[in-house]
Formats: sequence, C-alpha cells, structure tokens
Amino acid sequence: MKKLLSTIFLVSSLVSYAQEFQIITLGSNGGVIDGDISGYLVRNKNEENFIALDAGTILPGIKAGLEKNNFKGITIPKDTEWSDTGYIFREKIKGYLISHGHLDHISGLVISSTEDTKKDIYGLKSTIETLKNNVFNWKLWPNFTNEGEGFKLNQYTYQELNPSESKNINNTTLKVSAFPLSHSNYESTMFLIENNGEYLAYYGDVGPDIIENSNGLEESFKIIGPLIKEKKIKAIMIESSFDNSKEDKGLFGHLSPKWINKEFEVLEKYSGKGSLKNLNVVITHIKPSLKKNDNMREKIKKELLEDNKYGVKYYFPVQGESLEF
Ligand SMILES: [Zn+2]
Ligand SMILES: [Zn+2]
Repeated sequence: MKKLLSTIFLVSSLVSYAQEFQIITLGSNGGVIDGDISGYLVRNKNEENFIALDAGTILPGIKAGLEKNNFKGITIPKDTEWSDTGYIFREKIKGYLISHGHLDHISGLVISSTEDTKKDIYGLKSTIETLKNNVFNWKLWPNFTNEGEGFKLNQYTYQELNPSESKNINNTTLKVSAFPLSHSNYESTMFLIENNGEYLAYYGDVGPDIIENSNGLEESFKIIGPLIKEKKIKAIMIESSFDNSKEDKGLFGHLSPKWINKEFEVLEKYSGKGSLKNLNVVITHIKPSLKKNDNMREKIKKELLEDNKYGVKYYFPVQGESLEF
C-alpha cells in the first residue's frame, strides 16, 4: 500500500511537473484583422496571475478564452463590479512584455489603457524608447506611463530589460531575460520566460539571419540550444508570417516555413542532433489573406507539417485557445 501510494504520488507529481505553463492566445494573426492580432497570456499553472506576451489584442482574446472555458481555476469574486472579461484584464494580467513597438504588438494595450490598472511594461531599451517617444506622448495617446513627455499618469511603469539579464516579473513567480533579434533591421526581442527551472522561449517578429545580415537568431539558439538538450524548454513560440510562396525580398523581417526549417538546422547545432524531435513549437503571427479561397493558416500548416525535417510538434492556436506545457 505504501509503495502504491508513493507510486501514485510520484506519477501525480510528474504529471503536474509536466505541465507548468498555460498559454492563452489573445490574438493569433500578424496584423490585418483588428481584434485578433499578436498577443498571448502566460502563467505558471500554480499561480493565478498572467503576463502578456505582446499586446496587439487583449479584451476580445480574453472574451474568446472565457467562451471556450479556458480560464478554469482563475478566481473571479462574485461581488466584483467588473465583468469577467474586465476583471481578468484588470486584476489577473500583471505586466506586458513587448517584443517591439510595431502597432500590431501594442494596439490592444494602448486602446484598453483607459480601463487598465497599475502595471509594468517590460522591454529592451529600443522598445521602451519607441513607446516613450512615439506612443505614450500625448500626441498619439495620453502618457499613461511614468516617463516621457508631458504629465505622467503613472499607471504603467517602464521596466527596461538589459540583454540576457534575468529579471523577476513583478507579482508573478516568473522571470524573464530578453535577447535582441533583427526584424527588417529594426530591433525585436526573444523573451525567455523562466518558471522554476523550466523555460518558454517567445520570439517576437524576426527575419532569417542571412537575409537580415544579423546573428540575432543564432545568438538566441546558443542560449536555448543547451536548454533543449537538457529538456528544460517546454515550448518555443515563433512566427511564420508567410507561406513559402513569399520571395525572400518580400519577407520584410519575417519567417516562412522553409526559413523556419533552415533556422532549426542552426538551432540543432546547439541543441544536439535529433534533439528537436517532439519539441513543442507554437506558430504565431500568421498574416491572413483577404483573397477568396486563400487560407494562409492552412497553407502554412500544410507546409510545416509536410516538411517537418526535425520532427517537432507544431501547434497553431487560434484566439481563445489554451495550451499547457
Ligand atoms: Zn508584427
Ligand atoms: Zn513587427
């Protein structure tokens, strides 16, 4: 009996150990369709507080997540004056990690800011500067932050991240380190989220190193490669904005299925041969087509699944969908 109990304990602890991150997709498109663009909520499953990875869309994503019953285990007090969507937005998102200042990664944050609560905005210096100089400056939008032009409403506190330095994310048990990427010669970011020695790697918009004339992706692979080898990376989230029909000169700092494979070849150099097999890879930032009978999501999915050289496990989550790793 004692042995049985200890076996049950071991199995149950392994099961909970196996799924420590929850990711809810707030917006899955790389632009075009307002209300469903680049944003993800992430939490340590043992905690109720989320952080947002990019914030192109927030409220419609929370609403879709609630409709799909994907906020199970999140406490919403019965006597709150706020709607469920409002309560999760205001009270359960504790900070925003912004990969770069492009509109499709910040529009939800900006437009909902008038109803938001006091939170932190994390990013590399270049992202914070963009928000400071070009967004929260009273010209594009009131200054809801603690720095920059004019009267400061002090709702958001900028938290500048130094490259590769680990920082606690306030009001969560998560930590983040940021690594610069090249996105059409503009700086973007890979965020490495740590949860008790396990990791999630979130790539903002990024182009192939060769085309960008950069080593941003390769440098990031030097970091996550050894972690993949040690099975400490639970998932990577990376973009495929276009399908393979997009010519290299039209990529403008983005990836497509064939380029993901080429970059995985570089990643495997640092993670070890065969180590990418069954790695969880979440595809983000698909740019939808408005042409009749042209389903970009299905095309990209088909191309990645039919040429899955490294045997990774692909996910293509849509708005409101929850993934656990
Ligand atoms: Zn984008
Ligand atoms: Zn971008």
